[in-house]
Amino acid sequence: MHIAVIGTGYVGLVTGAGFSDFGNTVTCVDIDPVRVEKLKGGEVPFFEPGLPELVKRNVAQGRLSFTTDTLAAVKDAALVFLAVGTPSAADGSADLSYLRAAAQQVAKGLGPNFTVIVTKSTVPVGTGDLVKSIVAEHTKQPFAVASNPEFLKEGDAVNDFLKPDRVVLGSDDPRAIERLREAYRGVMRTGDRTHVMDLRSAELTKYAANAMLATRISFMNELSRLAEKLGCDIEKVRKGIGSDPRIGPKFLFPGVGFGGSCFPKDLRALRDMGRSAGVVQGVVEAVVEANEKQKVHTAQRIVAALGGSAAGKRVAIWGLAFKPETDDIREAPAIEIIAHLKQAGATIAGYDPIAAENIKAQIGDVITYAPNAYAAAEGADAVVLITEWHELRHPDFAKLKKLVRTPVLFDGRNVWDPEEARAAGFTYHGIGRA
Ligand code: NAD
Repeated sequence: MHIAVIGTGYVGLVTGAGFSDFGNTVTCVDIDPVRVEKLKGGEVPFFEPGLPELVKRNVAQGRLSFTTDTLAAVKDAALVFLAVGTPSAADGSADLSYLRAAAQQVAKGLGPNFTVIVTKSTVPVGTGDLVKSIVAEHTKQPFAVASNPEFLKEGDAVNDFLKPDRVVLGSDDPRAIERLREAYRGVMRTGDRTHVMDLRSAELTKYAANAMLATRISFMNELSRLAEKLGCDIEKVRKGIGSDPRIGPKFLFPGVGFGGSCFPKDLRALRDMGRSAGVVQGVVEAVVEANEKQKVHTAQRIVAALGGSAAGKRVAIWGLAFKPETDDIREAPAIEIIAHLKQAGATIAGYDPIAAENIKAQIGDVITYAPNAYAAAEGADAVVLITEWHELRHPDFAKLKKLVRTPVLFDGRNVWDPEEARAAGFTYHGIGRA
């Protein structure tokens, strides 16, 4: 099957490479010529484990190619996936300008054969209908619209695409569903995991999934603040509830507040959908607010750990990406926490195994960038763990103790052993625990 994928970001490129790996012929399109040139040269423009190998293999076998020419890419395509960004607008609603533009370009390139246009991007309910009307305005060729929201996790995206828990297919046109089923046949060998539904329900399913996961995190973050106040250990509480099969252990980890390219913007968009529909989503509103509070609360606790003032203090920030195994820094909590500490007078040295360059491109020389975790800690008055990369989970505390000026640890992910840290001479601060 000929497939075109519009947008070669984290989702588009994984989608394109994934479908080509199932034997389809895929053309990936991006408006960014630099990105397309890199891809043509075999370079994946962001960090995603396993993706360069997948891309290379399928390019070599002639099933995967890259272009800036949307019209040529969609002309013979049976399926066109829209995987462009849907960032937050200033009011928190989803900014659909990239999607509108992409839909228009696709419409102009459609050939005489029936084409299915599929939104992979996360889009508010009703966007499929909008795409339908935009396309209809610009073409006389036969087409249908479907929604196939993406549930991949950055850092494990290739696995998620090749072995999905579920594939949600939404359309009001059975021909569109049939064609999507065919495209996904390669991943369904161990059993059919498709969930077929109408277009609007598919659009809402994606937001519902992210909102549920974010709610668990915010619930634990808020509870951790109570635990701090009442002298409890949130880690004991977490394990105590996570063993209940009705609750389960995942997404119960308290931390510094969630970030990333999805949860914050998708929660705001869902909040906006509720407000616009006159059905305010109180839980979602509270989750957004609790998350903002958690980042500020974390920064305030770091200042408290520095003795109540950050003026003249040196802080090492370990981990800058919004989570481990990605170089994505969109809405990374580290950015807000750094801004807060800077304003409070601290000097900051940051370290991240992969994302430092992206952070530097965004915030510049507001902090210094260390080549490794221990270098960042030299002369520090506090070592703060923000992103729990594997290499940061079990540091050599004895070595660290010799490097720092003041032995204070702030474990923003509760991954260090407080007893071990104390035995090495550190004052330990975690989230929701003494
Ligand atoms: P991204 O910003 O990494 O990539 C978007 C790409 O689209 C960019 O390379 C941009 O140049 C390109 N683009 C924009 N307009 C275009 C056009 N008219 N034609 C061709 N290319 C165009 O975005 P992403 O992280 O891949 O996210 C894409 C969508 O998928 C969003 O709606 C997001 O919410 C959703 N999503 C993302 C993730 C994730 O983990 N990143 C997971 C699930 C869903």
